[in-house]
Amino acid sequence: MNGRPESGLTAAEAVLSRAASCRTWSQLAEAARLCTACPDLVVSRSSVVVGDAPHGCRLVLIGEAPGAEEDISGRPFVGRSGRLLDELLDGAGLDRGEIAVLNVVKCRPPRNRTPRSAETRNCSGWLNRQLDLLGAELICTLGLSATQHLLGRGLRLATARGRVHQAPAGRVVVTYHPSAALRFGPRGAPREALATDLGMIADLLAAR
Ligand code: SF4
Repeated sequence: MNGRPESGLTAAEAVLSRAASCRTWSQLAEAARLCTACPDLVVSRSSVVVGDAPHGCRLVLIGEAPGAEEDISGRPFVGRSGRLLDELLDGAGLDRGEIAVLNVVKCRPPRNRTPRSAETRNCSGWLNRQLDLLGAELICTLGLSATQHLLGRGLRLATARGRVHQAPAGRVVVTYHPSAALRFGPRGAPREALATDLGMIADLLAAR
């Protein structure tokens, strides 16, 4: 897969086809780690951050893309944002060890730039298949990239949060990315909103 049509397939179509052939999480993880659909990301990445997927998880969190620490470790949300996320999950009574954690794009964009639309399109085949395989009760999008990917463009976080959306991928709750909470500080609105939204998610899971 090199981003150009190959055997009649675009890079995104080739990912989709490869992902659809994966019957288990471990098959998908193995295939995704070999993915070369986005040339710019392939040359700069250290690893493909496939994501965490504990068996039987009821909740999936989706962020935008790996950062520097995630790229090195191969695991999602292990840097500053991840540490804040862990703290807020703990505060809401949610155990990260029981939650799947994914990103829209699995390879770190150089200098943490926003993923390009072609990269998001390419990687969506992996993400959509991951969501199929997990079949979780609830999906929480962290930030605008993941939210717009699942619910469509034109949504604003401030107005989309606080309720459950029905999407083709399942039931979706929208909140801020922990990096926004870090940017605006401990008394900033994003951190308070994130804590409130994770509390709502805990209530939704407890009610089922
Ligand atoms: S970002 Fe996704 S589609 Fe692009 S090379 Fe990495 S795994 Fe493949």
